[in-house]
Amino acid sequence: MNSKQPVTVIGLGPMGQAMVHAFLDKRHRVTVWNRTASRADALVERGAVLAGSVEEALAANELVILSLTDYDAMYAVLEPASHALTGRVLVNLSSDTPEKTRAGARWVTEHGGIHLTGGVTVPPAGIGHPESSTFYSGPRAPFESHRPTLEVLSGTDFRGEDPGLAALFYQIGMVMFWTSMLGYWQAVALAAANGLSAADVLPHATETMTSMPSFLSFYSARIDAGEHGGDVDRLAMGMASVEHVLHTNADAGVDTALPAAVVDIFRRGMDAGHATDSFSSLVQLMKKTTA
Ligand code: NDP
Repeated sequence: MNSKQPVTVIGLGPMGQAMVHAFLDKRHRVTVWNRTASRADALVERGAVLAGSVEEALAANELVILSLTDYDAMYAVLEPASHALTGRVLVNLSSDTPEKTRAGARWVTEHGGIHLTGGVTVPPAGIGHPESSTFYSGPRAPFESHRPTLEVLSGTDFRGEDPGLAALFYQIGMVMFWTSMLGYWQAVALAAANGLSAADVLPHATETMTSMPSFLSFYSARIDAGEHGGDVDRLAMGMASVEHVLHTNADAGVDTALPAAVVDIFRRGMDAGHATDSFSSLVQLMKKTTA
């Protein structure tokens, strides 16, 4: 008899599908449900069971993985079947803001279920690999008892009992991911305007990205110590540099929204009197904006 924990997966976008494949690879019995039922076809061929309704999917197993676009989608899917949440452990791997995940956790708890928040840090191709990582937060005991099954999907990084914490760590990564990738798209557009392909600039782009961890560790220690001295770099130097970037892009005729936004932030740092400080002083500016 198969002693592996059976699991339900609701939401079969690229992520949910990768999760079902990972569970099937490890011989877990999997029940699936998706708004667009046809997205389950290939999974059913591999042995997954397609539930006829959300109620059926929830009733099938104690452990239920949600992989939806966001928490609004969770309410859209689960509200009509909320009576079936009692006794279920809902591992919500849909991303959203920390506040929305806290409200979602309260809602699930009010309906008799247990909610664990998750934030997956890898694309679908990283699912099923122990070196990949997912943030989790929520009640520790159910997390620990289901950890072995969750580790089929990726390594697990439990951040604490506040349901918002996994989402917070996820969002901290995402603000860096989206802005870094936008920087890369800008570089590719600039290269293309000068007759260079993405492949032509890949080695230089990779070298630039690979240099980042040393900047992060150097500046994080100084930021935590409140040090923004201009001994290594000065904001005034950065100001001149980001203007060169803006003008290079403008001269090439490519979109300048991103480099102009960067110039705007540096300019505000200059106006706040940080010209002779490090450009890490921009963190102070950003903290004040959100205070
Ligand atoms: P998608 O948005 O492509 O698909 C998610 C699922 O949500 C689909 O099954 C879709 O159903 C369903 N859905 C959306 N809105 C509704 C609704 N109103 N009612 C019912 N079902 C709905 O997401 P992914 O699979 O790419 O990702 C899932 C989660 O994982 C997201 O929160 C994403 O941010 C996160 N994530 C994704 C990564 C990636 O690289 N893809 C990486 C890390 C995290 P239907 O098929 O019917 O449209």
